Amino acid sequence: MSDLKPPRLKNDCFALPPGVDWTPVDDALARLKERLTCVVGRDNVHVHGALGRVLATEAVAVRSNPPAANSAVDGYGFAHASTGDGDQELPLVDGRAAAGAPFDSTVPAGHAIRILTGAVLPAGVDTVVLEEDVTSDGERIAFEGPIRQGANARKAGEDVEAGDVALAAGTRLGPAELALLSATGVTHVSAFQRLRIGVLSTGDELAAPEETTDPTRTYDANRPMLLSLVEDWRMTPVDLGHVPDDRDVLRARLNKGVENCDVILTSGGASAGDEDHVSALLGEAGVRGDWRIALKPGRPLALGVWEGVPVFGLPGNPVAALICTLIFARPAFGVLGGEGWHVPQGFMVPAAFEKQKKPGRREYLRARMLSDGSVKVFHSEGSGRISGLAWADGVVELPDGALHVTPGTPVRYIPYASFR
Ligand code: AMP
Ligand code: MG
Repeated sequence: MSDLKPPRLKNDCFALPPGVDWTPVDDALARLKERLTCVVGRDNVHVHGALGRVLATEAVAVRSNPPAANSAVDGYGFAHASTGDGDQELPLVDGRAAAGAPFDSTVPAGHAIRILTGAVLPAGVDTVVLEEDVTSDGERIAFEGPIRQGANARKAGEDVEAGDVALAAGTRLGPAELALLSATGVTHVSAFQRLRIGVLSTGDELAAPEETTDPTRTYDANRPMLLSLVEDWRMTPVDLGHVPDDRDVLRARLNKGVENCDVILTSGGASAGDEDHVSALLGEAGVRGDWRIALKPGRPLALGVWEGVPVFGLPGNPVAALICTLIFARPAFGVLGGEGWHVPQGFMVPAAFEKQKKPGRREYLRARMLSDGSVKVFHSEGSGRISGLAWADGVVELPDGALHVTPGTPVRYIPYASFR
């Protein structure tokens, strides 16, 4: 038997090397925020094709919503002044007012008119009584007063007035924003071009399932994950493929990538090891920032600028790659794409788990919200456990300091959807 012994496990194998200052997550984010600027152009687009676009200038309502006073219910309209307290009886005028079929003469004082939801209030009508609160023989209606003036009627412009700012510059247009623009007569907006995000995988071991079943090879999980994430965020994914651990090939691919990308996400090779060509190459170009960030998972994060294009050198590990993308790249994409710094909405909710967290770095745990509003974390913190990413519907962010979480401790849960 040889006396060659495997190295002893260190007490804390994540202990920081002496003298090395790890940048806290918040400092790293503040630096990113301060250094980045908008890099995309703008163009005039039709609202129908604007989903996910970011407004470059505020959108001003062309017309009011609603454009005219109208009824909020099916019922009967009249002048409030014609009514009072106690039992009321009003004769009906001939005809009716319906949405898209207005009544175009005046309803005389002391009369009522059949009116349907969305119908413009005819002249002489300022109040509507709900159909359910009325009895009618077709000639007259009876109901109990008093009815509040303006009841069941929507005023012109009560939602938005023509000339109001409907949406501020920097707003990302989702379905609700498109509804608002459409309702207020805005057909075209000035929007930033979608941020083009290159995604490149690095590593000799990587392959596609179609290529090989060789168990020494690893199927590329990061590229489909990151490309689809970009698509989900309604930015433009650019597939830069896969390169081996070869500095020349990587250099050539980055040179090609910067031609049609505004920012590049690489994964793998971001540490300081022999085969960590991304960080080495960014360093060689003299443009690598010193980004040793105190977070788990995902310590090796190389940030640099290649021919003017920011490069996020993500760790290869898919769990770490996703976390770093959500936490660092997403807010940065906001600035680069004209939306401004994007802070994901988190929620303080009770923990449904127990964990003794050490001080010194922020931690992100794969998490899932339960129906009682508490949050559970994945049973393993193993950073190669991609199944945990799929199991989760968000992350729990534990602060930089030490923390003993027990069931019921409030923790910050950030749903994946908050990063959109
Ligand atoms: P690296 O950051 O290059 O040292 O890689 C760390 C770990 O992540 C290694 O086990 C790699 O095989 C793995 N890895 C790197 N890139 C990918 C990828 N695109 N898909 C899946 N695993 C990856
Ligand atoms: Mg590698």
